[in-house]
Amino acid sequence: MATKKYKYLIIGNSAGGIGCVEGIRRVDKKGSIAVVSDEKYHTYSRPLITHLIEGDVDRRGMDFRPRTFYRGHDVQPYLGYRAQDLDTEGRSVTLISENGGKGNTIRFEKMLVATGGKPFIPPMEGLDLDGVTAMINLDQSLEVRKKLGRVQNAVVLGAGLIGTKTAQALSHQVDNVTMVELAERILALVTDAVSSDMAVEAFRHSGVQVLLGNTVTEVKGDSKGRVSEVILKDGTVLPCELFVVAIGVRPRTEFLEGTGVALANMKVGGGVAVDLNMETNIKGIYACGDCAHAHDFVTGGMRLLPLWPNAYIGGRIAGMNMAGSSHQHKWATNMNSVDFFGFPMVSAGFMLKPDKKGFEEITRSEKDRYSKVILKDDVIQGLIMAGEVDRAGIYLGLMREKVKTTSFKKELLTDDFAVVHLPFEVKEKIKQPIMEIE
Ligand SMILES: Cc1cc2nc3c(=O)[nH]c(=O)nc-3n(C[C@H](O)[C@H](O)[C@H](O)COP(=O)(O)OP(=O)(O)OC[C@H]3O[C@@H](n4cnc5c(N)ncnc54)[C@H](O)[C@@H]3O)c2cc1C
Repeated sequence: MATKKYKYLIIGNSAGGIGCVEGIRRVDKKGSIAVVSDEKYHTYSRPLITHLIEGDVDRRGMDFRPRTFYRGHDVQPYLGYRAQDLDTEGRSVTLISENGGKGNTIRFEKMLVATGGKPFIPPMEGLDLDGVTAMINLDQSLEVRKKLGRVQNAVVLGAGLIGTKTAQALSHQVDNVTMVELAERILALVTDAVSSDMAVEAFRHSGVQVLLGNTVTEVKGDSKGRVSEVILKDGTVLPCELFVVAIGVRPRTEFLEGTGVALANMKVGGGVAVDLNMETNIKGIYACGDCAHAHDFVTGGMRLLPLWPNAYIGGRIAGMNMAGSSHQHKWATNMNSVDFFGFPMVSAGFMLKPDKKGFEEITRSEKDRYSKVILKDDVIQGLIMAGEVDRAGIYLGLMREKVKTTSFKKELLTDDFAVVHLPFEVKEKIKQPIMEIE
């Protein structure tokens, strides 16, 4: 077992990890970098794993960076190795190979933890049956793709971002798809009641059965150990050869337990606590992405923001800081852009008007489009656009720059509203690139 030493060690080869490599190389062209991931694949775009099932992207089309990336950035990849036994004082980790064998010990000067999330799996019998899966990585998507030929009925539990995307993908490949959601709203983190209803309609119109206010209580299998049906809280029996559990993702922080790296309280979802520079309580150890907190420019607090751009930008900023620069991650919020069966939605910040002084909401609702802004003292703090999203960029710019909309508030949601109608100084402000990450 060899010991290798690198200036920078990055755990995670996805949005956060790659952002970090690119951030480091902006500042330090030479310092040695190692990237470790327990997934054996070249870096890929995780949000595309359901598109692989759908068939509108192939394996190569999922590459997040060209295959020459590691060589081009002078990075040593350790793919298919899990990092464990972090020693924060001695600055080392041990790598464990896929078959459980101990590999190299890696010593480092600075480290980024970008270990992402793990699916929340409820305690329920039957979840070990063949045909039951989560949907958070490429292996799971490849496995589902292999099974498609013998699947006529699929059930997806959970209608968040992962559940809805999985149901949409399966609907193009499988005869009957049912999405079961405990809440009365789908995509609860990125919709309000009206936009959720419109999205549900898009699913139903495309043949996906959506059951709200319900959940799966039992999973049953056949004599060959394959899933055959699920039973819902209200007694409904749904036959299925594929059952996808997508009820949430938790920060993957087991690697850090007992190491002295501070974790946030489970009441706020856990995750690695960091400052605006993405540094943890241990100097030289940084964290970003789904495993860590980030600053939300709308609420002003630190929170989990499990979104691809947040992971990438957080990693990039961490990387620049690890290499000696000084930058802060201040541009994240709950921001999303999705499209279901040709029905687009963009949302950011608050989805529901907080019950506090100073907040108001303006809505515009038509048959197939809906928009809403939530303002606090005339500054946009929440946005939902559904059905028509063309001007989302303008609202997001106003939000990010905390522009007072008082002089044009009445026009905000009218058809005429466009950048040309903004006062000159506002136009200039929202045109500015985010210098921290350029
Ligand atoms: C189906 C799906 C659809 C999505 N759609 C969207 C979307 O539309 N928009 C959006 O913004 N976001 C979306 N997301 C979320 C987005 O993919 C994540 O926010 C993003 O991938 C987080 O990046 P990350 O670098 O923090 O971690 P991850 O992408 O989770 O990568 C972490 C990596 O670290 C590895 N790892 C963990 N622990 C260890 C260890 N101890 N040793 C070695 N390796 C380790 C993991 O196996 C993994 O490969 C989607 C996610 C999924 C699953």
